[in-house]
Amino acid sequence: MNLADSGVLAAVLNARGYRPAETEAEADIIILNTCSVREKAEDRVFGRLGELSGLKNMVPGKKFAVVGCMAQRLGERIVDKAPFVDIVLGTDQMFNLPEILEKSNGTPLVHTEFGHENIGVIAPVRDSRFAAYATISRGCGNFCTYCIVPYVRGEERSYPAQEIVNQVRNFVSDGVLEIMLLGQNVNSYRDNELAFADLLKKIAGETDIKRMRFMTSHPKDLSDELIATMASEPKIMAHLHLPLQSGSDRILRRMGRGYTLEHYRHLVDKLRAVQADISLTTDLIVGFPSESEEEFNLTLTAVEKIKFDSAFMFRYSPREGTAAYRFDDDVPDPVKIRRLTKLINLQKKISYEKNQEEIGRIRSVLVDGFSRRSNALLKGKTEGYKTILFAGEPSLLGTIQNIRVTSADSWTLHGDREH
Ligand code: SF4
Repeated sequence: MNLADSGVLAAVLNARGYRPAETEAEADIIILNTCSVREKAEDRVFGRLGELSGLKNMVPGKKFAVVGCMAQRLGERIVDKAPFVDIVLGTDQMFNLPEILEKSNGTPLVHTEFGHENIGVIAPVRDSRFAAYATISRGCGNFCTYCIVPYVRGEERSYPAQEIVNQVRNFVSDGVLEIMLLGQNVNSYRDNELAFADLLKKIAGETDIKRMRFMTSHPKDLSDELIATMASEPKIMAHLHLPLQSGSDRILRRMGRGYTLEHYRHLVDKLRAVQADISLTTDLIVGFPSESEEEFNLTLTAVEKIKFDSAFMFRYSPREGTAAYRFDDDVPDPVKIRRLTKLINLQKKISYEKNQEEIGRIRSVLVDGFSRRSNALLKGKTEGYKTILFAGEPSLLGTIQNIRVTSADSWTLHGDREH
């Protein structure tokens, strides 16, 4: 979501005549778009500001802006800690940066009011020529007890379906083959009577986009209609990111997630019944307040049984202002670290096994760049959102190729092009 927002902000700035600088030293303004979801992310922003602070006097009038979730959460406190910061704009204010830059006069400007977001669907500046993010909703109304997002991104609101369709059409005329629809909880998307599955069908039917993905889904809102739509609509890639968070029902209840492990497993069974090789990825938190060893073991068992293709795994990080912040953060750090290491090792083994199962299969791959290590290897994503590398000519960039998987480790597949 933050990457997509940075792209939208870049588009807003481009439209006002700003251009990206080659280096931080020569930039007139340095903008940090921030994340608040974990304490570590915020610490890194202050670390980065410290590194960059020496540049303040190198370009006369150089400005610093901190925008996004951390700006929303901390507001003035950012300027207290880093007085050279000129502009702090929260999540609903960040796209007003061009106007606020014009008003900036040496006194720090801090805007974190909600309800002033003046942005509809805007085509973001993209990293990839062939794949694009399309934000379909903002904010979240779920208030999971550990999560800061509803406080920093505000009420959930969906963009009109027709505007999203128009944006996808514009992407297509600009050479985009694949879109990722984004929302904190895409499953609760609503435009009057249109639900998320209807939006997917509308985009698939009314545009020439070749491939569609979406993120993130909430298990409590994943509908049978969506499962059926994923299975029947060939443009929708066979990948679902479905955060489980914990394998313990008591912890899930304390997290305010609104489902049980049994419900989650039932969803996985339904998904796999209609799409046997759907790729499933998840998010998991260890060391949530009061998580016992047995409850952590339930997460391990769930992971072993469900066999996710990959997972984002974190140790619990208390966020001021959330409901869980008032719970006793009683799992000691060394225990959190031990649990996380154990979980990561288990998932690494499962990811390896799942990727070994890919060997011999032919996957449809959108070729969108080169391997980081070698320009002789092209890279792309399979339907299941796995990175695959293969030898090929640069002329294949921006095409969809059939690649036979020949080898794999826990993170990457290698393959050969089928002629
Ligand atoms: S669904 Fe829960 S975890 Fe996800 S953004 Fe909303 S409150 Fe946070």
